[in-house]
This record gives sequence, structure tokens and C-alpha cells, in this order.
Amino acid sequence: MNDDAFADAEEQLRTEIIDTVRRCRKCNYCYSACPLFQSTRGFQTSGPSGIIQSLYYGIVWGELEGQEKETLRDILYQCTTCNSCVLTCKDRATGLPIVEVIEKGRKLLVEMMNGPMPSQRKPMEQIYSHGNPYQEAQENRLAWGADLNFKRLPTDEAETLFYVGCTTSYEPELQNVGRSLVKIFQHAGVDFGVMAEEKCCADPVDKMGDMFLYQEMVEQNEEAILACGSSRLVTVSPHCFHTFTQSYDRLTAGMEVLHYTMYLDKLLADGRLRLQAALPRKITYHDPCYLGKHHEILEAPRNILRRLPQVTLVEMEQYGKDSLCCGGGGGRMFYEVEGNNWLGETRIKQALDVKAEIIVTACPWCHTMLDNAVKNLGVGGQLQVVELAEIVAGYLMDAD
Ligand code: SF4
Ligand code: SF4
Repeated sequence: MNDDAFADAEEQLRTEIIDTVRRCRKCNYCYSACPLFQSTRGFQTSGPSGIIQSLYYGIVWGELEGQEKETLRDILYQCTTCNSCVLTCKDRATGLPIVEVIEKGRKLLVEMMNGPMPSQRKPMEQIYSHGNPYQEAQENRLAWGADLNFKRLPTDEAETLFYVGCTTSYEPELQNVGRSLVKIFQHAGVDFGVMAEEKCCADPVDKMGDMFLYQEMVEQNEEAILACGSSRLVTVSPHCFHTFTQSYDRLTAGMEVLHYTMYLDKLLADGRLRLQAALPRKITYHDPCYLGKHHEILEAPRNILRRLPQVTLVEMEQYGKDSLCCGGGGGRMFYEVEGNNWLGETRIKQALDVKAEIIVTACPWCHTMLDNAVKNLGVGGQLQVVELAEIVAGYLMDAD
């Protein structure tokens, strides 16, 4: 892109942000829904309207490059993009796309060399150079499944492309989620395979604000995924699911894209998973924001849990669309803010309040945040954090 094109993109972002924020009534209903506002104990600029108003005045007063530019950057990057404010503004006020404004603000800051946060620069570079944010080698990406027998795409062909994602591929505590899904797919007789050269879906790049790198990665990933020739794509992470369904137009035009909870719900409904009896368990479910609040995927995970023998599903004080964010979205896995532990720990206390033995989730980042909270609180003897895929895999009948 030449300088004129960059300038045009910047100008467009400024205009779109100003036009949208002008519609804010400053009624502040959105604050009541914001986990960030709650976790930072109520700073005005740590709430939805405060964030977008700060951005608005930063633009109209010409302060994006002024003395306060780092303060503005810190305000914009603290948001977890959980979408609670968007739902509240839609229900009670004017329906502003607050998250979209915040994401546009981050893009503007990156274009002006004032973003992302310093701690996010390395992960961003790693995504570009290594295809993942964790400084891990591409050749180790499939190590989690080295001893498992599944197809490698596109050398092999398969109806379903199982997109594992960076965190599940590399994080030792989450690799069992990938293994559990392989076990489930094999049990159900799903014709599936994993990409031999899978790379990051680029969601963190989008959330950290590099729109040109994001676009480049989307185009490269689309080519690679389409070359596999599969008709269905199933993700582990809700963030991958969100990115594929929102930005990968060429994929969604010809492929069914599902989060794994949607697919397992269907496999169970079709009678393709045979379950065995187990001891009674009391389980609660933590809704990942990028399933519940962004896509209204609330029932599929609960349907799965309700079908498991001897499982009692109990809801926490906040659940469904009112669920409490874990604090790990929107690039926050790579940027810690004040009160970072408060959200995860509050969530764990809510699970303990309903006397659950297990808190189930369906997102690698929620899993990490909740697991850290259990360790911080020292309650590992009372409550386990488990992925839904791992729970289901444990109920499968052995092969006859
Ligand atoms: S609820 Fe919507 S209109 Fe009201 S202050 Fe928040 S963003 Fe503005
Ligand atoms: S997306 Fe979530 S964290 Fe961000 S401002 Fe809205 S409610 Fe707060």
C-alpha cells in the first residue's frame, strides 16, 4: 500500500468513529454490564462509554499524537471485547457497536505507531514470523497428536477440517483437548483431518489492531484452507470460530464453519456418540463471551451436558448472555491490566457458591484464566476446570 492509501484508511476510521460515537446518549447503562468497569473498581474511563468518548475527544481535539497518547492507548487496550456493553446498549439505549468502535480506535493507533501495547508487540511479531503468538516452532505444531492416527490435509482429503488453533496445539495443559476431540471424532466415525501446516487464524492480530497484517493473514489462510477441499470446518476456540465466520468470506461462502460445541451437540442428537454410565457429578458451565455474547451459542454446550449420564447442570449467579467475562479476550491474554485476576477469581467463587465440582468451559483462553484463578485461590481440591470436549471424551463407551 502507498502513503495515500494509508492516509485514506486512517481518515475513514476517524470519520466512522466520530459518526458512531456522536450517537451515544451518555446514559451510562452500559457501565452496569462492563466487567472491566467492575474489575477496576469503577474508573470512568474503564467503562464502555468512557472508552469511546476518550477516543472521540482524542480525535476531535487532535490528541492522538499528543502528550496523552499513551493514556489513550492504555484506555483502548484494556477492553476485553466481551460484547456485554453492546448487548446492553442494544436493549436499553441506541444500539451502538461499541466493540467495533474500540477495535477501529486500536487500528487507528497502530497506524499512528501508538499501538498495540508494548507487551503485545512480541506475540504479534511471532504470529507473523512463526504462525503462532507463543514463540513456538511451526514444526512442533502437531506434536500434541504425533502418536494419533488422523489425516493430514491437504495431502489427504477429509470431509471435516479440524482446526486446532495455537493455544490448544502448544499449551501442555490444553493439548488433551485436541486429543479428546480426535477420540470423539473417531468414535463417531467422522471423516476428518488436521492441516499439516496450520497457522494462527489471526484473531489476536485483529484485536491488537494491525488491520493490514490481519488482511494478509486472512487471505493466506483462506487459500490454505480452501486447498484442503473440506466441506466443514470445526474449531476448538470460539475466537477462531468468530474470526472465520466474520472475516473469512470465501470460506463461509462454501463451507460450514462450526464451533466444536455445535458439532458435538449435533453428533449426540444424531445418536453417533454412545455414552456410558458414570458417577453422579455436579457441573456448572462458564459461557465464553465469543460463544454466548457474540454468537448466542448458549444451548448447544448445555444440551451436551444435559445428555451426559448422571450429570446435574447447575447455573452460576451470572450465566448465558449475562455471564461474567474471564478477562482473556480482546488481546488481554497478552496484556495484563490492574484487577486482571479479579474476573477469573470472582467466576470461580460463583462456581463454588453453587457447590459445583467441575466448572466446564469451551474456550482455551477461558480455561487458562479460570485455571489460574483456581490456583491463585488454592481451591483445586474443591473445583476442577475442565474443557467440555474432555468431559465428553470421558463418557464414550469403549469400542465393542
Ligand atoms: S448504553 Fe449506549 S448510548 Fe448509553 S452511554 Fe452506553 S454506549 Fe452510550
Ligand atoms: S466489550 Fe466488555 S470490557 Fe469492553 S467496554 Fe464493553 S463491556 Fe467493557
